[in-house]
Amino acid sequence: MVKEHGILIDGKWIKSGSGETFESLNPANEKVIGKFQSCNNDDVNKAVNAAENVLDSWKDVPAPKRGEILLRAAQLLRKNKERLAKLMTREMGKVIAEARGDVQEAIDITEYMAGEGRRLFGHTTPSELRDKFCLGMRMPVGVFALITPWNFPIAIPSWKITPALICGNTMVFKPASDTPLCAIEFVKVLEKAGVPKGVINLVTGSGSKVGSALVKHKKIRGISFTGSREVGEFVTREAGLKKVGLELGGKNGIIIMDDADLKLATDGVIWGGYGTTGQRCTAASRIIVHEKIRSKFEKMLLNRTRKLRLGDGLKPKTDVGPLINNRAVEKTHEYTHIGLAEGAMMLCGGKPVKINGKGFFYEPTLFTNVAPDMRIAQEEIFGPYISMITVKNLDEAINVMNGITYGLSSAIYTNDIKNAFEAVERIEAGLTYVNSSTIGSEVHLPFGGIKGTGHAREAGWTGIEEFSDIKTVYFDYSGRLQKAQIDVVVGKKLKKHSE
Ligand code: NAP
Ligand code: MG
Repeated sequence: MVKEHGILIDGKWIKSGSGETFESLNPANEKVIGKFQSCNNDDVNKAVNAAENVLDSWKDVPAPKRGEILLRAAQLLRKNKERLAKLMTREMGKVIAEARGDVQEAIDITEYMAGEGRRLFGHTTPSELRDKFCLGMRMPVGVFALITPWNFPIAIPSWKITPALICGNTMVFKPASDTPLCAIEFVKVLEKAGVPKGVINLVTGSGSKVGSALVKHKKIRGISFTGSREVGEFVTREAGLKKVGLELGGKNGIIIMDDADLKLATDGVIWGGYGTTGQRCTAASRIIVHEKIRSKFEKMLLNRTRKLRLGDGLKPKTDVGPLINNRAVEKTHEYTHIGLAEGAMMLCGGKPVKINGKGFFYEPTLFTNVAPDMRIAQEEIFGPYISMITVKNLDEAINVMNGITYGLSSAIYTNDIKNAFEAVERIEAGLTYVNSSTIGSEVHLPFGGIKGTGHAREAGWTGIEEFSDIKTVYFDYSGRLQKAQIDVVVGKKLKKHSE
C-alpha cells in the first residue's frame, strides 16, 4: 500500500479540497514512494490566511526564543540524519553520502540561524545634528512564499525556512513535485521542535497551479524562489512589488591552467561535473583547458570518467545515481544530439541506461572540441555532462568563462598566484574557487549568483537580508525642530567647554 500524505495548514495535516493526488517515484527503480495532495486555489488561500493570522503573534516572540526552537530542530535533524538521508536517496536518487551532506547542510544552517536570534544586528550611526540618535533595525517582511527545487530537497528549504523564521516571518512552503516527501519530513521536524501552528504551512502540487497562485497572491509579501531561469523570469513578471529573492541556474566553468596540479584538477572536475549526476546549480559543465596540457588532461579525465559506476545511490559502490525523472533523461539525451550536430566530439557516454529494466540513468558524458558558443557550452543541461573547451591563455580562458548568460559558480586550477588573483578579480560569478571544484559552499558564507542566475544571497551574513526589511529610526531629543541638511550646526568657531 502506498501512503497518502497531507498538506499542513494552521497546524493540521489535511487533504486537499481538490480530491486529487500525484505520486513521487524513486528514480532508481521507478517504484512509487508516496501519494501527495494536488492543491487548488482554495488550499492556497487557506494556507496564506493561516500564515497571516499568526504573523503578529510570531513577530512578538523574542528572536532569541525563536532561536531556541531552531536549536531544538537542529538536534532533531541530527538524530534523524540517517533516516532522512536514506529517504532522500529513495525519493530523488543522489548517492547516500551526498544525501547525508544535504541533511548536514540543513543541520548547519539551522544552528547558524538559531544563533542569529541573538544577533539580527542593525547599525547605529551618528546624526549630523545634535541631540539626535539614528539607527537601522530589522523587521520581518510578512508572509513569505518559499518555492524550492528537488535537487537539494532538504538543504534548500532549510536555507529559506530557518532565516525566514528567525526574522519573524510566517510562510507558505511549496516544494518541488519530485520531492514532496523530503519536504514533509523536514517540516515535521520543525513542528516537533515547537514552531507554533500556522507559522509554517505546506502545500503541494504543480508549480504552474500552486506555485503561480502563491507568486500572484495579494497577501504574500515576500517570495524566495530557487529553480530554473524560465520560472524565475515568470516570478519576476508576476510578483509585482513583493520582495523577491531568486536563485536560478548556472553554466559553471573550471579553468585548468598549464601550471595546475592535474591530478587535483581531475578530482575536482569529476566531482563538479558528475557529482549529484550533474544536477547541481553549481555543477561544473564547462572545462576550460589550456592548450599545452589539453591532451594529457583529456586522457586523465576520460580514464576516470569511464570508471564511474552508475547505480542506485543506496548501494555503497555507486558513484553516479539516476537523473530525477524521464524528462531529464530525454533532455540530457537531446543535448547529445545537439552537441554532435554542432560538431563537438563525444569521448564517452551519450546513452540512457536502465538497470534491471528500470531507472532514469544516463551515462556520464564527456565532449571535447567544444566551441564556446555551442549550445552544449551555453545552456544548462542538468545532467552528467562535461564540455571541454581549449584556450591559449588565461585571458582567453576568462573571456570564455564570462561568455555566458549565467553567473553562479566558477573555479580555477593554477599554482601561479598571479593567475589566481587575476581570475578572482575578473570572473563574473557569485562564487569563485581556487584549486577546488565549483561545488563546496559553507552555510556561514553568502551563496548566490549574478546575471541570469538571479540576485539572491542566501546563507551567511547576507541570508538575513533576504528575509528581513530594515527600518531606519531617528530619535530627536533636542526639544526643538531640527532640520537635516538645512540647519548649520558647526560655525567657524567651536563652543568652549565653559560656555
Ligand atoms: P523549476 O522547474 O523551475 O522548479 C522549481 C520550483 O518552482 C518547483 O517547486 C516547481 O514546482 C515550481 N514552479 C514551476 N513552475 C512554476 C510557476 N509557474 N510558478 C511558481 N512556481 C513554479 O526548477 P527545477 O527543475 O525544480 O530545478 C532545477 C533548476 O533549479 C535548475 O535550473 C538549477 O540550476 C536551479 N537551482 C538553482 C539553485 C541556486 O541556488 N542558484 C540551486 C538549486 C537549483 P513543480 O516541481 O511542481 O514543477
Ligand atoms: Mg521522486
